[in-house]
Amino acid sequence: MGLMDGKVAVVFGVANHRSIAWSIAQTLAREGATLAFCAQERMEPEVRKLANTIGSNEIYTCDVGNDLDVPSIFHQLGERHGGIDAVVHSLAFANREDISGKRFVEVSRDGFLLALDVSVYSLAFIAREAEPFLKARGGGSIVTLSYLGSERVVPNYNVMGVAKAALECSVRYLAYDLGLSQIRVNAISAGPQRTLSARAISGFQDIERIVNEHAPLRRNIDGMDLGNAALYLLSDLGKSVTGQVLHVDAGYSIMAL
Ligand code: NAD
Repeated sequence: MGLMDGKVAVVFGVANHRSIAWSIAQTLAREGATLAFCAQERMEPEVRKLANTIGSNEIYTCDVGNDLDVPSIFHQLGERHGGIDAVVHSLAFANREDISGKRFVEVSRDGFLLALDVSVYSLAFIAREAEPFLKARGGGSIVTLSYLGSERVVPNYNVMGVAKAALECSVRYLAYDLGLSQIRVNAISAGPQRTLSARAISGFQDIERIVNEHAPLRRNIDGMDLGNAALYLLSDLGKSVTGQVLHVDAGYSIMAL
C-alpha cells in the first residue's frame, strides 16, 4: 500500500534529474501516485525521458508567464482524470544579472516584476486553475518551494529573496481561501541543492559550505529529504497541516551564526 495510491499528482518544474521537482516526483511515484508533468518547452525532451523511467508519459508544455497554458493544462487534466489530488509548484526565475553580484538596490522594474511574476504570481494562478479539479476529489494539497533568503539576507539572492517572502505570504492567503474546499497549501523551505537554477546564484558554493559547517546536523540535505517532506504534505499524513512553511534544511535556519 502506497501513501499516494489512486492519487493524481501534477508536477511543475522538472528541468533535469537534479531538479527538486524530480526528487518529489520520484517519491510520489514510489508511493503509487499517477504523475503528470508540466515543463517548459525546451525541457520537454529531457522531462519525457525522466517521466518514462517512472511509468508516466503525461507531459504538458507550459510557460507560467503565458495566460493560456495553465488553464489549458488543467482542462486537459480534468478531461483525462476527472480530478486531481496534488500539485507541486517547484519553479522560479530571475534574470541572472539580478542574482549574480549586482546590489539589490539596483534591480530594475522589469527584473523585479519578472521575478515576482514567474516565481510568485504563478502559484496563485496555478492554485486558481487547479481549484475546481482538486475540489472534484473533495480536496487536495499544493506544495511550493521556498528558501531562507525570504527571512534573512543571503548575499546575491536579492530579488529572489523578496520573491520568496511574497511566495510564503501567498501560501498563507491561498491556504485561507482554499481551506473551505479542503485544499491545503504549504511551502517547503529547502536547504541548498545543486540544480540548474541554483548555479545561477553567485556564491552558491559558499552557501553550501556554510550549511555543511554550521547546521545543527553538520551536513546538508538531499533530494530525497525534500521528496519525503513533500510526501508528508501532499498525502493524508499531513491532512491537518496548511498555510505552513516547513524548513527542511538540516536545521540551518535556527542558527544565528
Ligand atoms: P531547477 O532549475 O531544476 O527548476 C526550476 C524550474 O523552473 C525549471 O524546471 C524551469 O523550467 C522552471 N521555470 C522557470 N521559469 C518558468 C516559466 N516561466 N514557466 C514554467 N516553468 C518555469 O531548480 P530547482 O532548484 O529545482 O528549483 C525549484 C524550486 O526550488 C524553485 O522555486 C527554487 O527557488 C526552489 N529552491 C531551490 C533551492 C536550491 O538550492 N536549489 C533551495 C530552496 C528552494
